[in-house]
Amino acid sequence: MENKILGLHHITAIAGDPQRNHHFYTRILGLRMVKKTVNFDDPQTYHLYYADEVGTPGTLLTFFPWPGVKQGRTGTGMATEIGYSVPLGSLDFWKRRFEENEISHQHIGERFGEKFLLFRDPDGLLLSLVETKHQDNRIGWVTNEISSDVSIKGFHSVTLTLGNIKETAEVLTGVFGYTQVEKDGNIYRHKTDHTENAAIVDLLESPGAPRGINAGGTNHHVAFRVKDEQVLMAFREKVQAKGLHITEKIDRKYFFSLYFREPGGVLFEIATDHPGMAVDEPVEKLGTSLKLPEQYEPMRDRIEAVLPELEVEV
Ligand code: ZN
Repeated sequence: MENKILGLHHITAIAGDPQRNHHFYTRILGLRMVKKTVNFDDPQTYHLYYADEVGTPGTLLTFFPWPGVKQGRTGTGMATEIGYSVPLGSLDFWKRRFEENEISHQHIGERFGEKFLLFRDPDGLLLSLVETKHQDNRIGWVTNEISSDVSIKGFHSVTLTLGNIKETAEVLTGVFGYTQVEKDGNIYRHKTDHTENAAIVDLLESPGAPRGINAGGTNHHVAFRVKDEQVLMAFREKVQAKGLHITEKIDRKYFFSLYFREPGGVLFEIATDHPGMAVDEPVEKLGTSLKLPEQYEPMRDRIEAVLPELEVEV
């Protein structure tokens, strides 16, 4: 049995208007919405998943969109940048696309020997596109406007901002099997060898920075990937052995999860590969209709009545 963390599973953030969020991630970025469901802890809120064709772990960015949500504040104790891997030579295309669509972005820069382009979604969430040093063989979703030679392949990295990186780094290295591989200024790059892609966690040390406030335009949690429930429960013991509080196993329908807050303040989740996004609808139909877990199916009419309008653009 492979008792390994296999990189990132998904990242979950908070948005405002669901239609605007959907338009940005599917039309502008060309990701596929692979699931339209509700927040299982708050079924009057959508939970939208954007990913590759089938919703492979390591490509999944998910949102809780709350219309009118107040703006959050980026700061310590949260994930503050989501890095996506794109094909070599594609950043010029993306820069032009952001200019044409008036998407807030910066100049193409270089970090850890890789060209990258920072940009913000309509809620102010910070993301980057990275031309990776290593060969990334994942196939991105293709749309009318986004061809395979430029399409987003999935996660490259996530950046966590911390007042002090020490204890977070200890969880990554001591529990999750990551290694600190490089350092650039106050960014400490951690990587796992147990997966090719979505393998990087950058720790940005920012002493004295204000604590982040989790609301619109900020990340809610970062989920790490494991193969199955047996490995999941092995990690539950490892986290507990560190003296950290961790939840019971929770059935999220598309995966099984555990949650704990790492000592630096970031909410971590560990999630399984199975059952996956195709458990309740075929791959060709992913994301096209509202899916509810069994416990909410009897309330479908009421839930649909209070959810905001969301026209799925396909
Ligand atoms: Zn999650």
